[in-house]
Amino acid sequence: MSAPVAPPPPAFGRFFLPGPTDVHPEVLAAMQRPMIGHRSGAMEQLLAGIEAPLARLFRTSHPVLVGTTSATGFMEMAVRNGVRNRALSLVNGSFSERFAKLVRACGKECIRLDVPPGCAVEPDMLRDTLRRTPVDAVTLVHSETSTGVLQDVEALAAVVREFDDVLLLVDAVTSLAGSPVETDRWGGGGGLDFVLTGSQKALALPPGLALGVASERMVERAKTLSGRGLYFDLVSFLDATTKHQPTNTPAISLLYALETQLARIEREGGVEGRWRRHDAMRRRVEEWSEQHGIAYLPREGRRSWTVSCLKVPEGKAAKQIVGALKQAGWTIGSGYGPLKESTIRIGHMGDHTVAALDQLLDLLAGLVA
Ligand SMILES: *Cc1c(COP(=O)(O)O)cnc(C)c1O
Repeated sequence: MSAPVAPPPPAFGRFFLPGPTDVHPEVLAAMQRPMIGHRSGAMEQLLAGIEAPLARLFRTSHPVLVGTTSATGFMEMAVRNGVRNRALSLVNGSFSERFAKLVRACGKECIRLDVPPGCAVEPDMLRDTLRRTPVDAVTLVHSETSTGVLQDVEALAAVVREFDDVLLLVDAVTSLAGSPVETDRWGGGGGLDFVLTGSQKALALPPGLALGVASERMVERAKTLSGRGLYFDLVSFLDATTKHQPTNTPAISLLYALETQLARIEREGGVEGRWRRHDAMRRRVEEWSEQHGIAYLPREGRRSWTVSCLKVPEGKAAKQIVGALKQAGWTIGSGYGPLKESTIRIGHMGDHTVAALDQLLDLLAGLVA
C-alpha cells in the first residue's frame, strides 16, 4: 500500500466572489448529519432553537421566516404579499432592476425611479417622487451587489413613513449580517415592512435558503390580497413559523448549516461583531485603493461593506485581472452585466478575514499596476 496522499490545504479563505461566498469548513461539516423527518419533534426543536438567534440577527421582535428557495423567491414573496396595485421601484443596478421586473411579472403596476449604476437614490429624490406619484409600496435594494452601492435605508425608510399606507420592501441580501440593518427601528422607529436575504451572501451558507421578516402592517396587507399564491403565501408561512413548523419539506441539511452558523455568529459577539469585521474589511479596501490610485464606482459614504466595486484602470482588462487571480488560486468577481468589462468586484463578506483580504490585495496590486 502506498502512503496516503497528504490532503490538500483547506480551500477556505480564497473565494471572494460576491455570492455565493466561501463557506467555513465547520458549517460544511454540519451538513453531514443524518436526515430527520420534517414533521418530527427534532425538526420542531431545531426551528425553535434558531428562533431567538435569528431575531437578534434581523434586530426584530417578529418571527423570521426561513424558506427553501434562493433569495429571489422571497423577493417574489415581498411583491405578492406587499404590493396592492402599484409599487415604486428604486432602480440603481441589476438586482434592483430584478425587483422592478418582479412587480410587473406578478401583474402589478411598477413605477421606476432610475439612477445611474454606481449611484444611490437620495431621500429627497424619493420624497419628490412619492409626492408626485401615489403608490402603495416601495421596493429597493440596500446593498446593490452589481455596483457595490449601499443605500441609506435608514433615511429612505424615514421618508416612506411620511406617507400613509405605503409599505417598504427591502432586499438586504448583501447587507444583512454584514452591515447594520435595523428591521424594527429604522423608519423613525416605524420599522421596515419586509426585509429579506439569502443564505449564500453575508450569512456565508451554501445557496438554497431565503430568510425574511414582515411587519404587522405587511401581514395585515397580505391578508387582504388575492394572488398570494401558495409557496410564498406570507400568511400561511407565518402561521407555520409561529408553530416551529416548515411549510413544506425544507432543505434540512441547510437548516443544520444555519443552526451552526448562528452559533458561530453568537461566538463572534453577535451580529455587531460581524458588522465590525466587515467594517474593517471595507476600510482596508478603501485604504488600498487610495494607495494604488484605484477608483471606486460608488462615491465615498455610499459603499457597501460586503462588496467593493472598483474601476479597472486604463489599459487593463477585468477579464485578465480576474483570470490571473484565478491562476494564483484566488477568486473575485468581474463586473456584473453592463459593468462586466469596466469593473471588478471583491466580495469580502461572510466569514472572510482582514488577513486573507490583505493577501488578496497584495496580489491584486501587482495586477493593476
Ligand atoms: C444575489 C442577490 C440576489 C438574488 O439572489 P438569488 O439567491 O440568486 O435569488 C438578490 N439581491 C441581491 C442584492 C443579491 O446580491
